[in-house]
Amino acid sequence: MTPSSCRLCGAELTHVFVDLGMSPLSNSYLTPEQLVKMEPFYPLRALVCDRCFLAQLEAYETPEHIFSDYAYFSSYSTTWLDHCQAYSEMVTKRFGLDQNSTVVEVASNDGYLLQYFARRDIRVLGIEPAANVADAARARGIATRVEFFGRESARRLSEDFGADLLIGNNVLAHVPDLNDFVAGLNILLKPRGVITIEFPHLLRLIEETQFDTIYHEHFSYFSFLTTQRVFANHGLTLFDVEEIPTHGGSLRIYGRHVTDESHPISEHVLELSRRERDAGLQELELYSAFGERVRQSKRDILRLLLDLKNTGKSISGYGAPAKGNTLLNYCGIGTDFVDYTVDLNPHKQGCYLPGSHIPIRAPDEIRRTEPDVVFILPWNLKHEIMQQMSFIREWDGKFLLVSPELQLL
Ligand SMILES: [Zn+2]
Repeated sequence: MTPSSCRLCGAELTHVFVDLGMSPLSNSYLTPEQLVKMEPFYPLRALVCDRCFLAQLEAYETPEHIFSDYAYFSSYSTTWLDHCQAYSEMVTKRFGLDQNSTVVEVASNDGYLLQYFARRDIRVLGIEPAANVADAARARGIATRVEFFGRESARRLSEDFGADLLIGNNVLAHVPDLNDFVAGLNILLKPRGVITIEFPHLLRLIEETQFDTIYHEHFSYFSFLTTQRVFANHGLTLFDVEEIPTHGGSLRIYGRHVTDESHPISEHVLELSRRERDAGLQELELYSAFGERVRQSKRDILRLLLDLKNTGKSISGYGAPAKGNTLLNYCGIGTDFVDYTVDLNPHKQGCYLPGSHIPIRAPDEIRRTEPDVVFILPWNLKHEIMQQMSFIREWDGKFLLVSPELQLL
């Protein structure tokens, strides 16, 4: 695959979806020593395929480089853990999983999700490319293999067992070779098994101008229609879909083998396909209009920050998510606007955000310094964070959010 061909259908990519300039890898947090070294920046430009409408980044770095020492640990967000527990209960009941079932999760992270199945004595296996994260999963007793998932790894695993439930949450966007990945799902899935995959919904990204969810680690951005096409290419049918609130609006798709007729195609599948077509997701115009909306959004954010600083307000950040790094680097926001940010994850504390070099501290720092404004970078977790930080009201502090709209609360 050359950088200019579609990672799904191979067509030549000639249409720009949005150009976010040059940006460092968004999970490359810097140590104090690294602050005085050169820092690699790469173009952050999303293109859209005029044949299959997969929105995608041009590739600049190998996945091994990006993911070998990934600092993201799922277990640090309670909102996410609640979501996972509810999902495990629902899916166990809906598909009748029991002690004879096998649940496999691709990109299983620190075992945050599989733990809920393991507690029900269901056999679980995690597949996770980042060794440090896989170690954390094993430490909590979740069997985990360190590898990238695809045809080859699926064939090896399927010599021992098949999956009754095959899960992939927030992994599809990270997959460098989509066809190889989905082909692997087909291989590992039992004849009557079910696949569930969650990923941020491209329709929401476009409608709500969530440009900060675009970063180098996210190679692809999916509509339901495009996803249906990828799965169909590999003998898998999507028989149901749910719209869920995670990550600013995600889809949870349900797949099965084409040959397994035990799950009929639901009304939701037909309804969402229709809605995506009506919204224009199969036409280039919708994608080409996005870039200007992003530039307008940048101007609005900067105007608000300038107004705040010109009236003497102090601003701290909250969180150090990948999406925050896209936003800060694209808008050119550094410590000239945001004094520091805080994060619950101790692996990030003491480090600096890539590009913007904003220091990351422990959450107590907010109580100590009493900033006028707390800029919530992971806006998808705003309820959890606003509750946890509600004490900023003691000094009339306000929260700043950029999505679903720019607002001071
Ligand atoms: Zn394509």
